[in-house]
Amino acid sequence: MFINSLIYSYDLTKHEYTPSHPFKPIRARLMSELLNRYGLISEQNQKIVIPSLMDEELLSLFHTREYIELLKKGDKGEFSVEMLHAGLGTEDNPVFKGMYQYAWESSSGTYEGAMMLYQGGTRFVFNPFGGFHHAGRDYAEGFCYINDIAVAIADLMRMGQRVAYIDIDAHHGNGVQDAFYETDRVLTISLHESGETLYPGTGFEAETGSKEGTGYNVNIPLRVGTDDEVYLLAFESLVPSLIESFKPDIVVANIGCDTHRDDPLAHLSLTSNGYKKVISIINDLSPKILALGSGGYNLFRTAALWTLAWATFCGLQPHDLHAGIVGGMMYGPETGAGQLDDPPWIVEGWEKEQCLIQAQRVVDFIKDNIFPLHGILR
Ligand SMILES: [Zn+2]
Repeated sequence: MFINSLIYSYDLTKHEYTPSHPFKPIRARLMSELLNRYGLISEQNQKIVIPSLMDEELLSLFHTREYIELLKKGDKGEFSVEMLHAGLGTEDNPVFKGMYQYAWESSSGTYEGAMMLYQGGTRFVFNPFGGFHHAGRDYAEGFCYINDIAVAIADLMRMGQRVAYIDIDAHHGNGVQDAFYETDRVLTISLHESGETLYPGTGFEAETGSKEGTGYNVNIPLRVGTDDEVYLLAFESLVPSLIESFKPDIVVANIGCDTHRDDPLAHLSLTSNGYKKVISIINDLSPKILALGSGGYNLFRTAALWTLAWATFCGLQPHDLHAGIVGGMMYGPETGAGQLDDPPWIVEGWEKEQCLIQAQRVVDFIKDNIFPLHGILR
């Protein structure tokens, strides 16, 4: 029996960067309530794992020791000018008490998940607290302090594993791209809103890797307003062929939910329908999958999308066990709150055409420039 594991710690959900910061760890608690409500977390082959802290030394598989020391100082409430140079103490990455502890523990969940998959017996792990794809070797950015993804993949590489990273968060996975830009042992694929309109301003299709890594970094930048249909067209035209030809031992999937049309920070227009379809394709691509929560700033939508992803990866159908019960728990301010699925919705007219033109241009570029390097026929 292969195990599906959820990395979960109630204590982690209590952290807050600052009260007005859009990144809210409490999202994971909302999801856990939905998993219970929809009967998705009581199967025999499911395990809930409270992450145990990883050896700090492992963080230097990606980060500099000096940077880790700065994080620890910030954790104690100390502040210095070097911190600003390392991106700490900004609006996006505030210095707050417990900051290092939070980042370390969240990253430990990702690391533990990776090791569970490596050791065998586990088929799927979801760490909703992981997915800090923007953090650099010696700096913080984009709400990210420790790059849990780069650390975990670096150790899997050390153990001889081939890893494919698929990033469907609305933002470009720049920190992970930088970490593995020159190697052919990690295939990095990121679909995101174009850097022309969204932070971090990178992730164009011409960034294809360098040295041995040439052709092993794939960026799929999409236009503002991209909907389920256009997103799926780009995803299905490129991702399965690349993964099938790379033959990874493990797929690490960043399943951020800020592509949703109700997300307040990004400008893509996906619904739960497109998101779920993408998750089910990823699920079919590898026998071992590590999924990471990453972005998602509409808290209730994010909780619902993660719930759908969990159900899909576990091969379960959600059933509302509380259907018909009036009152009681609160799942959000909107009507339909706590419902997992959105009604179908697509963009039409000129907007749609522009989105299609952009997606088709990127698909053609990748088929022309990257597919041949992997021996994939168009
Ligand atoms: Zn994001």
